[in-house]
Order: sequence, then C-alpha cells, then structure tokens
Amino acid sequence: MSKHQFDTKVIHAGVQRGFQERKTGAVNPPIYQSSTFHQDQLNQFGPFDYSRSGNPTRELVEETIAVLENGYKGFAFASGMAAISSAFLLLESGDHVVITKDVYGGTFRFVSQLLTQFSVDHTFVDMTNIEEIEKAIQPNTKVIYIETPANPLLQVTDIRAVVALAKANNALTFLDNTFMTPLYQNPLDLGVDIVLHSATKFLSGHSDIIAGLAVTNDEELAKKLQFAQNTFGAILGAHDSFTLLQGMKTLETRLEKSTKSATQIAEILANHDAIEKVYYPGLASHKGHDIHFSQATSGGAVLSFLLDEKIDSNRFVEQLELPVFAVSLGAVESILSHPATMSHAAMPPHERQARGIDDRLFRLSVGIENVDDLIEDLQQALKQAALVKNA
Ligand SMILES: *Cc1c(COP(=O)(O)O)cnc(C)c1O
Repeated sequence: MSKHQFDTKVIHAGVQRGFQERKTGAVNPPIYQSSTFHQDQLNQFGPFDYSRSGNPTRELVEETIAVLENGYKGFAFASGMAAISSAFLLLESGDHVVITKDVYGGTFRFVSQLLTQFSVDHTFVDMTNIEEIEKAIQPNTKVIYIETPANPLLQVTDIRAVVALAKANNALTFLDNTFMTPLYQNPLDLGVDIVLHSATKFLSGHSDIIAGLAVTNDEELAKKLQFAQNTFGAILGAHDSFTLLQGMKTLETRLEKSTKSATQIAEILANHDAIEKVYYPGLASHKGHDIHFSQATSGGAVLSFLLDEKIDSNRFVEQLELPVFAVSLGAVESILSHPATMSHAAMPPHERQARGIDDRLFRLSVGIENVDDLIEDLQQALKQAALVKNA
C-alpha cells in the first residue's frame, strides 16, 4: 500500500488492508447496521461480537485513516470532541497538560471545565513560542497538546520542536490535524503520538455528519485508545461510518480545488483596500509560513481576514450571496463565519481582543464553487458594505 500515492490510497486503503465484501463483492461497503453478531459455538468467537467494541463498516473507516496518516491503528468516534475527549482519558488524576491557548473552543472547554473535575491540571501557552512551552512543563506533564494551524488566526506551531521537547520530558504529544488533513500534514511521521481529527470537516466534506478520528503509531497507545473507545463508548455509528468513507474518497479532489481557490482569494484580499489584514499560511507574509511549509505541503483551504474600519460588517454579511454564513468549515460549499459571535463568543471581550479576535475578523472556508464567482461575490459585498458607511 505504501508504494501508492495519496490519491490512490484514499480510494483503496481499507480494501487493501484486508476488507472485501466476500459474499457479494460489493464495491461499496455494506452498512452493517447490526448491534450484535452471531456466535457459532459456545467457545468460538468471530471477528465481531458487539458494535460498540467493533463494527465492520466502522473498521473500514478506521483502517482508511490509519493508512492515510501512516499510522498503526485508527479509531472512529461520534464527533471530533468524542475523539479528543477519549484521547484525554489516557490521563490519570494528578497529571498535567500543556496546551495551546489557541485551541478549538470545545477542547478549551473540555480541558478547563471537565478534566479539572478529575484532577488533571493544565497550562495554556502560546505554542508559537517554544520557550513558553518549556517553562510550562512540570514533572507531572504527561501530554503536550498541539493544534496547527490554529483557529482562527492560523497560528503555526513548530511540530518537530514540540515533539523534541515532549520526548525530552517523557510527555506524549497529541495533535489536532483537522485543518490540514492527512493530505497536507502527517504528524505521526514527525514523531507525534496521537493525531486527532474532527472528521465533520474536510474528511467528510459535505456538511452532513458529525464524526471524529484518532490515529496512533504505537501499539501500546493503540491498546489504550481501544480500551477508552470501548469503555467510554462514544463510537461512530455504522451509517455515519459509511457516509464518512464516501466523503473521504474525494478528499484530494475537493481539497486541492478549494486550496487553489483559497490561495487566489487570499492574494486578492491581501491587496484589497477594504481589508486590513489576511491570515493564511499560504501567503509568504504569514507569520510561521516557513515553519508551516517545513511540516505541511499546502496552506489549506481556510483563511481569515480583518475588514477595514470603513466596512460595515453586517452589511458585508447581508450582501454576500454564495458562502453560507455558519459555524463549521471544510465543506463543498464555502462557509463564512464570525469568530467573535460564533466560535469565540463564550470568551470575554478583553480575552478576545488580546488574541486578535476582533469584531471585524471573519473566517472563510473555501468550497469547490467556481473561484471567479466567489471572488466576484466577495468584491461586490465589500463594495456595497463600504458604500453604506460612507453615505
Ligand atoms: C470542529 C472542530 C473540532 C470539534 O469537532 P466536532 O466534530 O465538532 O466535535 C475540533 N477541532 C477543530 C480544529 C475543529 O475545527
């Protein structure tokens, strides 16, 4: 399998690792909508017994993500948060986590409000600053948690440097790879211990399901993750496993187009007088651009931009015809979101300001629409929004 390129593996991964619908030869995997499996004899167990512990459709997703991330074993969960939370269940009371302050809001809430109930402590750090991470490490630090590029300003963390720091301190590294996907960034190859995904985003790609994935290269960690998955029980159902598999097959086709468009849009906005600043790892001017391209192969399909003060934000949103205005990202349709009132609404205004999450900041996840139509739509909305305020 490894001799093949990504776009071949994404189509054939699960099948090559041993899956084949033997009875019928069906090309698409059957949705094994069965909670339990017949056992032939008293002491003879088949490959599956109960779908929380294992389900053939789910197993195919798990094999596929393992192949794509160059991992040993993958696990599919009911949501990105279920995958992330289950990985944190590997910790014990008294342990400590060092985590990026720019982490996804749900992870921020899990670590700061739920893990603390089980006496697992944490320190939030600026992960673009290696010295700050080093200072935050304690004798009981067991996990360093990375998200790169992070949300919503696409801040870049040096994966190799954090992995080296973690290894020197006997800590594990977890990395949320949602924004890059295995197409553009393979953190296990850089020494990361557990890679996590919200498969709700680019991997499924159609704004249709909520799903999460975890992958590891280590047999011991795989055993622990399997135990957590089966015991905590936040598994991905057979139907959604099928939907995710279908989505993943077109990941490369979708994401390559979206990325090409995102690059074009970022360049236009960076030179637009209605825009104060553009955040996109694909721009040479982006902070962390060089580090990003030393560990990933593309800038991806998500960018953020700060409207100039002379642009009316409400009017801009109202005037846009194409992008849906919603939370989430990574779909065939372009999605525009407003971090200050959506993903970071729970954060006090001064905390938001300190992180550069201004009320004039928008995040655009570029879909697969025609790029000229998207650009024209953005141009006309910016123009209309400027007119009103000047009038
Ligand atoms: C959406 C998202 C999550 C959470 O995933 P769900 O599937 O919504 O539970 C985690 N991390 C990142 C970076 C995300 O964008």
